Amino acid sequence: MPAAHIQPDDCWALRRGRLYKFGEGLVDFSCNHVNGEISDHYNGHYLCLPIIAHGDTVGLLHIRFDDEPAFPAEAGEPIPEKLVSFAIRCTEQISLAIANVKLRDELRDQSIKDPLTGLFNRRYFLDRCRREISDADRRSKPLGLISLDADHFKSFNDTHGHDAGDLVLRSISEVMLDIVDDGDVVARFGGEEFSILMPNKAPAECYDMAETLRTRVEANVLRYGGLILPKITISIGVASFPQCGRTPQELLTEADRALYLAKDGGRNRVVVADGSDS
Ligand code: GH3
Ligand code: MG
Ligand code: MG
Repeated sequence: MPAAHIQPDDCWALRRGRLYKFGEGLVDFSCNHVNGEISDHYNGHYLCLPIIAHGDTVGLLHIRFDDEPAFPAEAGEPIPEKLVSFAIRCTEQISLAIANVKLRDELRDQSIKDPLTGLFNRRYFLDRCRREISDADRRSKPLGLISLDADHFKSFNDTHGHDAGDLVLRSISEVMLDIVDDGDVVARFGGEEFSILMPNKAPAECYDMAETLRTRVEANVLRYGGLILPKITISIGVASFPQCGRTPQELLTEADRALYLAKDGGRNRVVVADGSDS
């Protein structure tokens, strides 16, 4: 029985990155995965072909001929060229199919993710907002939306440079990803502004989450170029469905309004929209 799991080191084809034929020589080395242990005695011819997509090894095609009635070879006999070239053509087709799927996934990823932080982008976020709002409506569940913005980020950039600024943006995104729950959607809305969508969370839970985020970002110590950077703070606005609105635009407007109140109130704080203007 072939092994259920194969490590790259267990296969001569994977090690070398090319076709490996076993059985054609009188003293061949068999692959570990064939018997799950090193055994170099002959027990049938086989082929191993690495499946390579976009330069990455993504799989292995392993063909054994020991049960093949049309090929009752003895140790040392060659594998018929027709079989080898057929196996190579199969591998090429499999590689091509996997490369296409990988390419499609990469393109999709690029179209919905922000390259700096790896968070979802604004377009994807708005799309998810629409879907999550209609889901919350149908199930009569609450939904929270957080908008946040780094405080005095322009002067931070001017003083410490764009690269240090990028480091801060990445660190804010890491804190967000660290504290959110499964099902929450974290996005970079643009520049130094981020948003989090929180299905099933009532306003009080959203506030707690926002406070945790604010204090975690404030406590974050970042080093850049051997120096400790001054601390960065964020201001946060929180809006909830259905109190503050029933469309993404209404919720975002209310969260932004609360965010500007947080800025006006002295920054580094959380304001919850009460929905009285909506
Ligand atoms: P406030 O507290 O009112 O939000 O002030 P602020 O300085 O943060 O706001 P402002 O909108 O004036 O400045 C935002 C700055 O964010 C300007 C820009 O240099 C910086 N910024 C936007 N996108 C990026 C980015 O991708 N990387 C870096 N490093 N900086 C960015
Ligand atoms: Mg801003
Ligand atoms: Mg700002």
